[in-house]
Amino acid sequence: MKEFLTNYAPKELERKFEELGFEPYRARQALKWVYAKGVDDFSLMTDLPKEARAKLAERFELHPLELVEKVEAPDAVKYLFKTRDGHLVETVLLKERDHYTLCVSSQVGCNVGCSFCATALDGLLRNLSTAEIVDQYLQVRKDLGEPIRNVVFMGMGEPLANYENVRRAVELMVSPKALNLSKRRITVSTSGIIAPLKKMAKDPVMKEVNLAVSLNAPTQEKREALMPLTRLNPLPELMKVLKEYPLSPYRRITLEYVLIKDVNDSVQDAKELLKLVGKHKKKFKVNLIPFNPSPELPYERPPLERVMAFQKTLWEGGLSAFVRFSKGAEVFGACGQLRAKRKVCM
Ligand code: SAH
Ligand code: SF4
Repeated sequence: MKEFLTNYAPKELERKFEELGFEPYRARQALKWVYAKGVDDFSLMTDLPKEARAKLAERFELHPLELVEKVEAPDAVKYLFKTRDGHLVETVLLKERDHYTLCVSSQVGCNVGCSFCATALDGLLRNLSTAEIVDQYLQVRKDLGEPIRNVVFMGMGEPLANYENVRRAVELMVSPKALNLSKRRITVSTSGIIAPLKKMAKDPVMKEVNLAVSLNAPTQEKREALMPLTRLNPLPELMKVLKEYPLSPYRRITLEYVLIKDVNDSVQDAKELLKLVGKHKKKFKVNLIPFNPSPELPYERPPLERVMAFQKTLWEGGLSAFVRFSKGAEVFGACGQLRAKRKVCM
C-alpha cells in the first residue's frame, strides 16, 4: 500500500528517503515541489532523476482527502472533504481585508463534550492524521490559487487531544523546508486540557505558535456546567499553567469566550473574569464570540447591548477584549456548528 508523503515531518522524510536509497537532499527537493510549488504529480518533479520519480510514485501518494462540496459566502468559503474511510471533514477559508485565514479541523467530531458546541454532538469518530490536516491547507490553496497567510486550529476537534499529529502538521506549516508560514500566524485553539498544554509549553515547535484557550466561563462551577472537562482540568490549575506559559515579548494568549444569553454574559461574569486573570492582564486578550445557534443546542445569542457591556467591563478593568462575529454564519453556520455527520466552522 502507498503511504502519504505528507505524514512525514521534513527530518523524518529525509530519513525515510535514506532508507529508500536516496540522498537526504532528494527529500528536500520533493518537499519543495509539494509544499512550496503545490505540484502533486511526481512525474513533474523535474530535478529528481526519472527513476527516482517513478519509485516515489510507486511508494507515495499525496492527497488523503477528496473535495466533495464547496459553499461560498461573501466573506468565507466552506470546503467539505471526505476521508478515505468515508468521514466528512470541514475546512473554512476566511477572507480578511488583506489576507486569507484557513480554519482547519484536527479530528472528526470531538469528545470534550462542551454543551454549547454542535461538534460535540457526534462524539469523537477519530483523529485526523498529519497528512489529513496538512491536505486541508494544500487543497484549499490550490483551489484558491493564492497563498494563505494564517492558519487557525478552530475547526472540528480538540487539537491537543490529537497532539502528535497536530504537532507534526504545525511543524510542516512553519518549516522553511515545507509550507514556510510564519509561526506568528498559526493559532492552536484548545479547550484547555492541562497535560498536553504543559507539553506544548516545552515543545520547541508548538510553544512558538499562538495559543488560544476557550475559557467560556469565569468560575469553576460555571465552566464545569458548560465544559465538563473542567472537572478533571480545574480552572485554577488551568489559569496557573497559562500564567506561567512561556511567551516572547509582546505576545499574548487569547482567551476565547463564547457569550451565551443569560448563562455567562452578565457584567458580574465579566468582573469575575477580571478577577480570574488578576494581575496578569497584559499576558492575555479576550475574544468574545457571540454564540452561534444550532437547532440542537439549548442556548441563545445575547443582544448586542449585553455583548458591548461585557466588553466594556473588561476594557475598564484593563483587559483587552474584542468582539468576533463568526464569518459566513448566515450561509453555512460557524464556530461550534461544525458537524461530522452534517457540516459547519467559523
Ligand atoms: N476544540 C477547540 C477548537 C475548536 S472550537 C476549542 O474548543 O478551542 C473553536 C472555538 O469555537 C472555541 O473557542 C469554541 O469555544 C467556539 N465555539 C464552540 N461552539 C460555539 C458556538 N455554538 N458559537 C460560537 N462559538 C463556539
Ligand atoms: Fe470540542 Fe472545542 Fe467543540 Fe468543545 S468547543 S466540543 S473542545 S470542538
